[in-house]
Amino acid sequence: MRHFAIVGSGPAGFYTAEALEKAYGEKARIDILDRYPVPYGLIRFGVAPDHQSLKAVSKRYDKVAECAGVDFIGNVTVGRDLSIAELLDLYDAVVLATGAPHDRKLGVPGEELPGVIGSAEFVGWYNGHPEFADLDPFLRGTHAVVVGAGNVALDCARILSKTRAEFEGSDIVGHALDALDSSAIRTVTILGRRGPHQVAMTPKELGELGHLEASVPEVDLTDFPPVEADEPLEPGLRKSVTILRSFAELPHDKPKRMVFDFFAKPLRIEGEGGAERVIVECTELDEKGGARGTGETYEVPASLVITAIGYSTSPIPDVPFEGGKFVNERGCIADRLYAVGWARRGPTGTIGTNRPDGYEVAEQIAATMPAGSAGEREGASGLKRLLESRGVMPTDYDDWRKIEQTEVANARPGSPREKFVRPHEWLGVLGR
Ligand SMILES: Cc1cc2nc3c(=O)[nH]c(=O)nc-3n(C[C@H](O)[C@H](O)[C@H](O)COP(=O)(O)OP(=O)(O)OC[C@H]3O[C@@H](n4cnc5c(N)ncnc54)[C@H](O)[C@@H]3O)c2cc1C
Repeated sequence: MRHFAIVGSGPAGFYTAEALEKAYGEKARIDILDRYPVPYGLIRFGVAPDHQSLKAVSKRYDKVAECAGVDFIGNVTVGRDLSIAELLDLYDAVVLATGAPHDRKLGVPGEELPGVIGSAEFVGWYNGHPEFADLDPFLRGTHAVVVGAGNVALDCARILSKTRAEFEGSDIVGHALDALDSSAIRTVTILGRRGPHQVAMTPKELGELGHLEASVPEVDLTDFPPVEADEPLEPGLRKSVTILRSFAELPHDKPKRMVFDFFAKPLRIEGEGGAERVIVECTELDEKGGARGTGETYEVPASLVITAIGYSTSPIPDVPFEGGKFVNERGCIADRLYAVGWARRGPTGTIGTNRPDGYEVAEQIAATMPAGSAGEREGASGLKRLLESRGVMPTDYDDWRKIEQTEVANARPGSPREKFVRPHEWLGVLGR
C-alpha cells in the first residue's frame, strides 16, 4: 500500500487526488490536508459569491473525497503543526497544493495608509475568510480605486457596485452584504497600467458589467487603437476589447459609475490619516509591450484603494522558494516532494488550468512508484498520532459535511448558505 499526502484542498489538490486515485485505485491511500476544516480553497474563499455556477465545480471534488481511498484531514497547518520532513517520513510522496494567498504589493508610497487594502483581503472579507472577517473596508467615501487589469479587479469593482437585490442567490457573507448595502461609494475607477489590448479580463466577466442595476461602465475611446487593430487579437481578447468598446455607447442613466482608466500607473497614494487620492502617471506602450511613464500625472480621488495585481505563495520552512512560488522542475521540488497549482506556477489561469498540473505530477509519482509496488510508510495513522501528541485535533470529511449542512440550514432566503467565518464557529458545530 502506498500513502500520499496532498497539502491543500483547493482545485489543484483535488485534481491531484483524482489523478492519483485513478492511477492507484485501492493500492493507495490519499490524504488531502488543509489548514481549515472547510475544503476547496479559493472556490470557497476567492471565486465571487455571485458566480455560484463556478462554485458548483466543488461537486466534482466531493466525488473525489467520497472515494474509498481518499480522506480529507482538516485543521492541520503544514509548516506549523508539523514539518515537511515529518510528512515525508510518513508518506511515500507529498504534494504541495497550498495556493498563493498573499497579495503582491504595489510598492508605491502611501500603500500603508488606512483605506488601502489588497484584493485577497477584500475578497476574503466578502467570502467569509476567517483572516479577514474583521477587515471593515472603508466604504464611507464616494470614490474607490481598484488597481489591476484582470478578472479579480473586475470582481472587486462589481461587488462594490451591486445593489442588495443583485446579491440574491449569492452566498456573500451577511456582514459584507450589510456593509455594502450602506456603502457611499458612487464611482469605482479601475486603473490599468497598459491599454485595452493588454487586459487579462474575460468576455463573460466584462459582459456582466453592461447590465448592472445601478452602475454604468465607462471607457474613453481615445485609449483604444483603431478598431481594425482588434482583428489579429486572439478571439477571447478580441471579444473582451469589443465589449469594452461597447461601453462607450451606454447611456449614463444610473447613479453609479465604473470608470476604466487605461494607460494609468499609480505613482503614490496620498491623504491625511487615510487614503484620499491616487496620483497616477500616464503611460504608453514601450517596444516590448510594457508600460512606460510619460511624466504627465493627474489624481484620482479614492478613500478606498484595492490592489489586484497578483498573489504569492506562503513559504514553508525547508522548501525552496523563489519569486512567490516553490522552486520546482515540472512540479518536482525534491525527491518525493512536488508542487501543483498556484504554489507551482504562480497565480495564473482558471480553475481548470490546475487539472493538468495534478495529472502530470500524479504521472511522475506513478512512474517512480508503480501501482502495486510495496511501500513502507505509515500514512494517516502515524500522522494522527503525531498531531495528537501536539494537541492538534484534525477534522474529517464528515465533519465538513456537518458544517456545510448547518451553513445551508442557516441560509437567508434566496441564498444557498450563510457561511461561518471563524474556526471556532466551525469547531463549535462539531462540539469541540
Ligand atoms: C479572487 C479570485 C477569484 C477567482 N475567480 C475565478 C473564477 O471566477 N473562475 C476561475 O476559473 N478561476 C478563478 N480564480 C482562480 C482559481 O481560484 C485558482 O485557479 C485556484 O483556486 C488555484 O487553486 P490552488 O489549489 O492552487 O489554490 P487554492 O484554491 O488557493 O487552494 C490552496 C489550499 O491550500 C490550503 N493551505 C495553504 N497553506 C496551507 C498549509 N500550510 N497547510 C495546510 N493547508 C494549506 C488553503 O487553505 C487552501 O485550501 C479566482 C482566483 C481569485 C484569487
